[in-house]
Amino acid sequence: MSIQSFFPPRRVLMGPGPSDISPQVLQAMSRPTIGHLDPLFINMMDEVKSLLKYAFQTQNEFTIAVSAPGSAGMEACFVNLIEPGDKVIVCRNGVFGERMRENVLRVGGEAVLVDDEWGKPVSVDKVEQAFADHPDCKLLAFVHAETSTGALSDAQALGALAKRHSALTIVDTVTSLGGVPLKVDEWQLDAVYSGSQKCLSCVPGLSPVTFSPAAIEKIQSRSTPIQSWFLDQSLVLGYWSGDGKRSYHHTAPVNSLYALHESLVLLQNEGLENAWQRHKAMHNKLKQGLESLGFEFVVDEAYRLPQLNAVYVPQGIDEAKVRSELLNVFNLEIGAGLGSLAGKAWRIGLMGYGASEQNVALCLKALEEKIK
Ligand SMILES: *Cc1c(COP(=O)(O)O)cnc(C)c1O
Repeated sequence: MSIQSFFPPRRVLMGPGPSDISPQVLQAMSRPTIGHLDPLFINMMDEVKSLLKYAFQTQNEFTIAVSAPGSAGMEACFVNLIEPGDKVIVCRNGVFGERMRENVLRVGGEAVLVDDEWGKPVSVDKVEQAFADHPDCKLLAFVHAETSTGALSDAQALGALAKRHSALTIVDTVTSLGGVPLKVDEWQLDAVYSGSQKCLSCVPGLSPVTFSPAAIEKIQSRSTPIQSWFLDQSLVLGYWSGDGKRSYHHTAPVNSLYALHESLVLLQNEGLENAWQRHKAMHNKLKQGLESLGFEFVVDEAYRLPQLNAVYVPQGIDEAKVRSELLNVFNLEIGAGLGSLAGKAWRIGLMGYGASEQNVALCLKALEEKIK
């Protein structure tokens, strides 16, 4: 047997993630591996923490990258904050809200569901009602940017509402971080997780998380142990915390963290506000082009994500066939519809480095050719 090295083609990634990665980030990843307890590496980890604090707009001391994809960041929030018997309001307006419900059940919590239609944001009024009906709810969990539909929810209003009811929030910002305004401290969010491969345009496999002092207090006052050893953040803290001595917890994905560091440096150099602006501007260009091709958006403009554009597939078009032609002819990946939108919609991502004029133009040209 003689299997050869793998050389992937250069695709343009305009799906729901992973997104296009800057050559600078890929180069950073190929730099020499050093030990994860090497003082130089520890110093770089501290810089990653500072850069993540900027990206999340937080002063939270506990701001790190979980060494696993967004789903692990999600699980880290749920296993650490919830104890068996805790009642949690879970907002479900797409695929990822449903995953939150499963996480609550698996840690022995009780989920109080607030359902909204796919493509709509979480209804703040319904959440208010849920708190009124269940005053013993200690937590509110919601997705800021639903990647399955492209809907943005009002994290600021939901954060304020939770605080009025003395509840902590668990917030999914996997697709929002770096793409739309997100202000963890100002909005009083408590346990917030994200992913490296969406609007940060880094390689997949890392999950930035941040915990507020109130979230840390909740973890420290638990009466039951955290079920997961790997995701027990009180153990992980000893690995990521700055004061002199660091204790071995697991081996950090050294080269992936170089990549995250580089992608966050690029974000810092561009400026967070400018990055948000760029996503919006590229969305407007894509929207103009798509609408002139006759496409209709799934999500109303008032709460549409610029970085995830869900559009209905035109009548009479074989959606899977067109997607595979885009991939094979144009090296262009767009996303299929998920759940109730499967077979009916495409999801076109404009995330991070991929939110560019060049990508917008390629996508419009390819779609025009394939649907006419
Ligand atoms: C992609 C995504 C996740 C999961 O992230 P993985 O890195 O695929 O585990 C969770 N939530 C949302 C909103 C996402 O878009």
